[in-house]
Amino acid sequence: MELCEITATELSRMLRKKEVSSVEITNSVLRRMEERERELNAFITVTGGIALRQAAIADRALQATKGMPSLAGIPMAIKDNICTRGIRTTCASRMLEGYVPAYDATVVRRLRKAMTVLMGKTNLDEFGMGSSTENSAFGHTRNPINKDYVAGGSSGGSAAAVAAGEAVFAIGTDTGGSIRLPAAFCGLVGMKPTYGRISRYGIVAYASSLDQVGCLTRSVEDCAMVMESLCGHDKRDSTSAPLASPQLVENLQTGVKGIKIGLPAEYFVKGLDPSIERSVMNAVSIIRSSGAEIKQISLPHTPYAVSCYYLIATAEAGSNLARYDGVKYGYRADESCKDIASMYEETRSRGFGKEVKRRIMLGTYVLSSGYYDAYYAKAQKVRTLIREDFEKAFREVDCILTPVSPTPPFKIGERIDDPLAMYLADIYTVALNLAGLPGITLPCGKADGLPLGFQIIGRAFDEATILRVGYVYEKNSGS
Ligand code: GLN
Repeated sequence: MELCEITATELSRMLRKKEVSSVEITNSVLRRMEERERELNAFITVTGGIALRQAAIADRALQATKGMPSLAGIPMAIKDNICTRGIRTTCASRMLEGYVPAYDATVVRRLRKAMTVLMGKTNLDEFGMGSSTENSAFGHTRNPINKDYVAGGSSGGSAAAVAAGEAVFAIGTDTGGSIRLPAAFCGLVGMKPTYGRISRYGIVAYASSLDQVGCLTRSVEDCAMVMESLCGHDKRDSTSAPLASPQLVENLQTGVKGIKIGLPAEYFVKGLDPSIERSVMNAVSIIRSSGAEIKQISLPHTPYAVSCYYLIATAEAGSNLARYDGVKYGYRADESCKDIASMYEETRSRGFGKEVKRRIMLGTYVLSSGYYDAYYAKAQKVRTLIREDFEKAFREVDCILTPVSPTPPFKIGERIDDPLAMYLADIYTVALNLAGLPGITLPCGKADGLPLGFQIIGRAFDEATILRVGYVYEKNSGS
C-alpha cells in the first residue's frame, strides 16, 4: 500500500514513531495527483508548494515537541466553498473565479492550528447546488472507482480526492446530503454533524438554515479524529452551539450493547434499488449481532421531505446569492453595460450557471407575494412536522439506520438534463438537514464494482453514539 492510501489514524501513529515523515507522505500524495488528477478533476486549485512547506514545518514540530495535535502532518483537501486566506475560493462558479478571501474560515483556522497539510481546494457543484459535481464551471469530477460514473455531489471533488489517494481526508459541506452522498458513491465514511456543532464562519452560504461543515474520511476513527479538531463553539458564528468539542475518539470503544436502532418503514419502499436494500439489511444484521437491538419505526412525513427541502433551500439560496451583483464580489460584466441595471443583469446572466439560475428563479417564486404562504410558509410547517417525526422516534430508539441513496452511483451525463431525477438522489439525506440532526454514512459493499453506503442518524449533538455504532460495524464487517 502506498503512503497516500493509508488512514489518518495509522499515518499519525507512524509519524509519531518516526517511521515516516510528513514530507514523504505529501510527496506520495503529489505523485498520485500527477497520475490521476488530469482524469478525475477532483481539484479546482492544487496547492502543492504550500503543502510541501507545511509538511516540512510539521516534521520539524513533530521532532521537537511532544503532544502535537493528532492530525499534524496529515495531507488533506478543502471544498472550494470554504474561505482560505490568500488562496482563491471559487465555489466552482464563474462568479467567484478570481475571488481570493482576505480571511480563513474558522474550520480552516482550526486545521492550520492542528498543523495539517493543505493539498488544495476541491471541485463541487456550483455553490453546492447539485448531487453529482457536474454543475461546476471547472468541469465535472469523475468517480475514481470507475471514471464513467459521477463521484456524487456536491462535495464530489472532496470524495474523489480521498478515494483516489489525492488527500488523506477532506472537508466538505452538507446542505441536503452533499457530504453523505459522495462519501457513499466513493466508498468513504462521511459525516454531517448537528446544525451548530461546527462553525459556519467563512463558509460561502447556500441555504443558511441547512448548511453544515463535515468531513470525508477512510475510516470511522479518522472521522472521529477530524471531527474533534473541527468542533467547538465559535463566537463568530451566531448559530454555533456553546459547547466544547466532544471526546469522540475515546468513546469509540464503548460498544453497542443495549443501543436501540430504528429502521423507518418509509425509507425502505418502492424505488429503493434491491442491491442497496440487500446491502443495508446486511449491515443491519452485522450491527444486530454486535449487541444492538433493532426496531421498526415510522417517520410518517418522509414523503414530503424532498419537496419541502427544495422550497426552503431555493428560497434561502435566492436571498443569499443576491449579494453577487458585480459590485461587491468577484465577476463583473461592465464592458457593454449602459447603466447599473444592465450591469447587474449581465453579471448575473454570465456569472451563474444553469442550475444556480434555476434555483434563484424557484426561490424568488416561492418567496413572492401571493405564493409565499402557499409554498414557503407551508414548507416551514412541513419542516416542523418532519422534525417532530424524529423527536417522537428518538423517544423509542437511540439512532436510526437508513440507505443514503436510492440507487447506486449513476453515469456521468445520465441525469444532468433531468433536474427532478437529480433531486431524487437526495430523498434519504435531506430530512436530516431539515431537522438539524447528525448523520454518518459508511460503505456497505458494492454493486457492479461500485460502492454502496448506509446512513446512521443520531439525536441532536449525539455524534458520539452514531460514531460508536459505525465503529462497531466497521470492525465486524471486515471492511
Ligand atoms: N443535492 C442537494 C442540492 O442540490 C444538496 C446539496 C448540498 O448538500 N449542498 O441542494
